Amino acid sequence: MTATRHIVVIGAGIVGAASAVELLRDGNRVTIIEPGDPGGEQAASYGNGGWLSPSSVVPNALPGLWRRVPGFLADPLGPLAIRWSYLPRLLPWLARYLSAGSTLARVRATARALRPLVADAPARHQALAEQAGVGELIRRQGLLYVFPTRADFAAESLAWRLRAECGVRWIELDANELRQREPALDRRYRFAVLVEEGGHCLDPGAYVAGLVRHAEAQGAALVRARATGLRIAAGRLRAVATDTGEIAADAAVLAAGAWSAPLARQAGSRIPLETERGYHAVILDPEAAPRTPIMPSDGKMAHTMTAGGLRLAGQVELAGLAAAPNWQRAEILRRHALRTWPALPRDLPASRVRVWMGHRPATPDSLPVIGPARGCGDVMLAFGHGHIGLAAGALTGRLVADLLAGRAPVIDPAPYAPARFA
Ligand SMILES: Cc1cc2nc3c(=O)[nH]c(=O)nc-3n(C[C@H](O)[C@H](O)[C@H](O)COP(=O)(O)OP(=O)(O)OC[C@H]3O[C@@H](n4cnc5c(N)ncnc54)[C@H](O)[C@@H]3O)c2cc1C
Repeated sequence: MTATRHIVVIGAGIVGAASAVELLRDGNRVTIIEPGDPGGEQAASYGNGGWLSPSSVVPNALPGLWRRVPGFLADPLGPLAIRWSYLPRLLPWLARYLSAGSTLARVRATARALRPLVADAPARHQALAEQAGVGELIRRQGLLYVFPTRADFAAESLAWRLRAECGVRWIELDANELRQREPALDRRYRFAVLVEEGGHCLDPGAYVAGLVRHAEAQGAALVRARATGLRIAAGRLRAVATDTGEIAADAAVLAAGAWSAPLARQAGSRIPLETERGYHAVILDPEAAPRTPIMPSDGKMAHTMTAGGLRLAGQVELAGLAAAPNWQRAEILRRHALRTWPALPRDLPASRVRVWMGHRPATPDSLPVIGPARGCGDVMLAFGHGHIGLAAGALTGRLVADLLAGRAPVIDPAPYAPARFA
């Protein structure tokens, strides 16, 4: 019966695109609604660090974080910044965020719940990308975390203990081994950890666009519109309203990233969703770049060589969906690149740097929302992937298709249930 259903996918970031491909595989009729270009600059999926990281299981909020909140408010350029003007609206979310990271037991449970979403991300994305004819965009050559000294690695022992408990394995590299692997890297880094199972995407925006092109080739319709409402009668979805008219639907996947909460509310689910705004700077034709994507411990940003240049991606800014970007934050990323790759010219011209700001869809407990909406089982919520949405996108698409087909799901979806916020 699923074969005859018409399913509308709202949003063409990685989650919507992967969901569409999986739903088509099940024989559904699929319409994708997206106001921008699929994988375009409006989407978080466009400008991320490209990491397909099986080790991204450690939530940002860890025990003791609350003590640092005054500092986040005082320093608009710190690694996590909160805009004063946004604080009143943010407070309920922030309280839940700090609470979710307040004990080791909670953080451990979050890590355990995240791991199945990302454990085989590189292989899943490779299969999906190959199916869509863009297999060359996925690389599986590991991910490298670099530290000035071994003591700096030891200072992050909680994060690495959580990873080890979840089954993440790594190889430690001394200064010599690191030098051989990454000859262009600044010499202040003398210790590294290589997660061999990691992978990356050379151009996340092009990858998402490729998936949507593939979905169209398989029969999906792409409608350039913004979903504005859900028409639900007697608990069943009848149609998705858009700014260009209504589209009749038997089911819908709500994958509108950081913009998903108002539509989820119409289907009976009140989800505390925030945007963790992030930035990137891309250095075109860099004189030096990593061979393997790198995360420096003193920068906490991805350094990834992408199709468009050396991409520095990171920063967390809590300031809502509407505030203008603070481009000084992208400048922090650019400066870090100059300190990390000595061969880059100090006087890098502005014409060789592209900057971008995007919205990570973030729940307070660092877990995505994947499952049926409270007031209408035909509406499948699929958003809130925060820092790991690219990596987790492929499996999320599969999970969404399993749930809509009524099949045994590929992994246990219980930790992501929207009802946890009821
Ligand atoms: C700086 C930065 C670095 C990151 N690095 C990584 C990384 O290295 N690895 C990783 O795994 N993750 C990373 N992430 C996170 C990842 O990018 C996101 O979690 C992921 O892209 C979210 O995908 P999505 O499809 O849910 O949302 P999005 O990609 O934001 O897509 C949502 C889409 O929905 C559309 N939309 C919005 N409203 C409507 C509407 N009403 N109707 C129809 N469509 C609508 C939007 O136009 C958009 O195209 C990073 C994020 C940032 C910002």
